[in-house]
Amino acid sequence: MSLLRVPVQNGVQEADSPIKKVTKRSRQILDSDDDEAPVVKEQVAAKGQGDKEAPSKTEKVKGQTDYDPSRPGYHPIDHACWKQAIPMSFPRLRNIETLSNLLRSVLLLSPDDLLCCVYLCLNQLGPAYLGMELGVGETVLMKAVAQATGRQLDKIKAEAQEKGDLGLVAESSRSNQRMMFQPASLTAGGVFRKLKEIASMSGNSAMNKKIDIIKGLFVACRFSEARYIVRSLAGKLRIGLAEQSVLSALSQAVCLTPPGQGFPPAVIDAGKGMSAESRRAWIEEKSLILKQTYCEMPNYDVLIPVLLKEGIDQLPNHCKLTPGVPLRPMLAHPTKGVGEVMKKFDEAAFTCEYKYDGERAQIHILESGEVRIFSRNQEDNTSKYPDIISRIPKVKKDSVVSCVLDSEAVAWDREKKQIQPFQVLTTRKRKDVDASEIKVQVCVYAFDLLYLNGESLVRQPLCRRRALLRESFSEVEGEFVFARSIDSDNTDTIAEFLEQSVRDSCEGLMVKTLEKDATYEIAKRSHNWLKLKKDYLEGVGDTVDLCVIGAYLGKGKRTGTYGGFLLACYDDENEEFQSVCKIGTGFKDEDLEQHYKFLKDHILPKPRAYYRFDQSAEPDVWLDAVQVWEVKCADLSLSPVYKAAMGMVDPEKGISLRFPRFLRIRDDKKPEDATTGAQIADLYKKQQQIQNQGEKADPEDYY
Ligand code: ATP
Repeated sequence: MSLLRVPVQNGVQEADSPIKKVTKRSRQILDSDDDEAPVVKEQVAAKGQGDKEAPSKTEKVKGQTDYDPSRPGYHPIDHACWKQAIPMSFPRLRNIETLSNLLRSVLLLSPDDLLCCVYLCLNQLGPAYLGMELGVGETVLMKAVAQATGRQLDKIKAEAQEKGDLGLVAESSRSNQRMMFQPASLTAGGVFRKLKEIASMSGNSAMNKKIDIIKGLFVACRFSEARYIVRSLAGKLRIGLAEQSVLSALSQAVCLTPPGQGFPPAVIDAGKGMSAESRRAWIEEKSLILKQTYCEMPNYDVLIPVLLKEGIDQLPNHCKLTPGVPLRPMLAHPTKGVGEVMKKFDEAAFTCEYKYDGERAQIHILESGEVRIFSRNQEDNTSKYPDIISRIPKVKKDSVVSCVLDSEAVAWDREKKQIQPFQVLTTRKRKDVDASEIKVQVCVYAFDLLYLNGESLVRQPLCRRRALLRESFSEVEGEFVFARSIDSDNTDTIAEFLEQSVRDSCEGLMVKTLEKDATYEIAKRSHNWLKLKKDYLEGVGDTVDLCVIGAYLGKGKRTGTYGGFLLACYDDENEEFQSVCKIGTGFKDEDLEQHYKFLKDHILPKPRAYYRFDQSAEPDVWLDAVQVWEVKCADLSLSPVYKAAMGMVDPEKGISLRFPRFLRIRDDKKPEDATTGAQIADLYKKQQQIQNQGEKADPEDYY
């Protein structure tokens, strides 16, 4: 199907002049603006293309408002709401099953729409690492809504403030509109192309041009499309599925309904006849192929065409790790102490490395000689570190043509020849740094090699990767050194090394398997890397990173600022922020001042629809979830008030943090990178296990 094909509904407008085609009957229907009459609208519209293409009852093509991809026994052709070779309508999606069913229809009926559907679901315009932005602020969006609906801008503003969702305002404003001619209905491909067009505009009159495109989209909206288009434009689509779930849905879809079958397809449901369990296991296995490949090549523009042409099994052979394309970093599991490490790794050989407290730097050396540096979240940090780039030729051996290094960039005091705290690094300029103006020096601590001279190493064990790393680079003090490590399974030696790491201004240790189960695992938080922080010995294990969603007005000394805050973890499955505790300690006066200054600009008139909280802990002001804080707590407890991990440990209660203490702002984490509900549940369970075993917080136990 070509994206340029005329959709059924477009027939009326595009086949001929709209004026000629709008008959009395059709005008009545179009003017009625009745969302409940889509079938009639479709039938009228379909006439424009001739009866051959018109959806008839016998073809069971559903009206858009009847469309229900969550129905049991979903048939990807019969239950779809569009026909083969017709651009797919801009959809509303709910959960993995629903989404996978929808994608199955896309695979069979309009496979060329798969890429844009996935991007639309993710509310992205391209690979995240390219950082494509619409560049449309809220005010511009409001202007476009006002102009498209003929309403006053301040009315739109006031209503958006009141409803807390411009999407809803747009939807209700649209339904007040009476239109003479209904423009061509939106298609997924059409919407996506317009969004990309908006993103590509720059220069003087860009804003007006952007507004024009948005207006064009907006007047073509039907049903509740305006709500979702506006949310999309505002970067707040929130379909209730995060990226990992979208990947699950995509793999489920291609498993059940293999792509590339032609039409009519031979296989509608390849899982038919399997037991529920083997079906699930089979889908999960395939899903891991997709997720792993995505981690190495996080670019749907590359993945999806291969998926469509070659199928899911062939993905790893065609989409490989490539210098210049950042891969997801391997993440570690928190542990409570050396005792737990020994138990977990049992007989396996492992190494302990210093855990440096800086910023992750994935350094890519391309064949062309170009060097790129990416952050933990795949942001391009190349222009932040000209100093690192300039020292690469000095530390790289001649044998290295291309490679991907994993490392930590740490603030370094050249005079005292010592590591500086993380806070010093945060004062460094973030973009377009001029090498001659650098005040905060950094030293690179390299700890892994993921790619070398055309070959991915992620499936090699760490001992091999580490050997290659050490062969391929030379150390220069204060500039580029290998992470300090010991390979020992002696508890005392490890405990001593942990102490030493802290004396050397590190956070503790990273403990990593060397041989068995020692590949670079990126698709999940791996148990092959354990983090052992000195702090853990005092608290619940790890610190948690939480989002601020509300604030309480200060009293006494804190009058005039906020005295306490409501924090939430992020549930990535349901895309919601779940309240987890109130926090009022750990703040210096300057912290409180800084928080007030920053957060007062993010006040919401009411909580977001995706905040889960109990009325008894309602804050004085609601805040937009824009900032993540690192927080430490004494322990975790079940709570009828807080909603974190609700249903995961107890069917009715959530989990809350007790005695939380503010540590620092995590500028490097987005709200969606906050600790998840599942992680909170894990921490709670681990704490319970330890309590049940009667283990006390005895340092002996940890060492
Ligand atoms: P996470 O990244 O696991 O979500 P986080 O961002 O809070 O959590 P930490 O829990 O502090 O980070 O630990 C992981 C980070 O430690 C890595 O992302 C990396 O930046 C840093 N790090 C420092 N030294 C090492 C090392 N030797 N090996 C691996 N990572 C290291």
